[in-house]
Amino acid sequence: MGFSALEEMGRRAKEQEKPLWQVVWEEDCAFSQMEPAASLEKMKAMYRAMKEADASYQEELVSASGLVGGDGGRMARYVESGACLCGPFVGRMMERALKMAENNACMKRIVAAPTAGSCGVLPAVLLTCQEMLPAEEERILEALYVAAGVGEVIASRSSISGARGGCQAEIGASSAMAAAAVVTLKGGSPEAVFHGAAMALKNLLGLVCDPVAGLVEVPCVKRNVVGAVNALSAADMALAGIRSAIPPDQVIDAMRDVGDRMSVELRETGKGGLADTPAGRAVREQLEKQSRGGSQEDVG
Ligand code: SF4
Repeated sequence: MGFSALEEMGRRAKEQEKPLWQVVWEEDCAFSQMEPAASLEKMKAMYRAMKEADASYQEELVSASGLVGGDGGRMARYVESGACLCGPFVGRMMERALKMAENNACMKRIVAAPTAGSCGVLPAVLLTCQEMLPAEEERILEALYVAAGVGEVIASRSSISGARGGCQAEIGASSAMAAAAVVTLKGGSPEAVFHGAAMALKNLLGLVCDPVAGLVEVPCVKRNVVGAVNALSAADMALAGIRSAIPPDQVIDAMRDVGDRMSVELRETGKGGLADTPAGRAVREQLEKQSRGGSQEDVG
């Protein structure tokens, strides 16, 4: 897709008197030289894969490091008990975000949206909206096109990579995409869509990428929950008429600037932040010891 500014996407929709999702869809077809029906089929397949990944969660699975597994099931039972302080809607969303991110850590099939590390945010929000609003699948697909358009602009103006821009670029981008999708689903204006995305992104500005032992597990799995909940609150603010004081494209530019100023230790190297705590270092040492032991056994 070729949009490099949200403002440009909004202008095109206004000039052509089309909904945002349609201009993103048409741009996608033009850019990838795909028939409209084929593009839609691809989007459907992606959403189907998200649903299948959600349904195929296995609570008993634990990641190879042993750090991650089972929290999706714990959350499901807690929500089911009625005790969840955030209520059933947000509770189900949190459960799904945990499940999908655990699926990723346990090497199961997921849809990178926009990255594997942030794969839980968009499906958690959209699957829960479909189930609990409820929303028709056709509307969800439209919302996915808008999310894709927002993701494309973030990728082209800034980054969606933790190694380049920190976790604000991964969880921040996915949260902005999810906020845009929810505002679309709820019938918000293009302005509300972009401001929802901007508020989601700005609320995660400065979030560092500090995975323990360099694995996409801790803190990644739980950050997917934060990305989803943040998306919903940003969408609600936008739908209530609240606007970002900083224009949406400028928020994305600020994210790039913050990423550029972030030290390399805080950009997916596993050398700073949580990875450099005594507990984080102990995990890394333990895993290194195990891997040395494993290779000696192999050699022997
Ligand atoms: S901490 Fe780093 S690896 Fe983990 S989700 Fe965030 S950006 Fe991705």
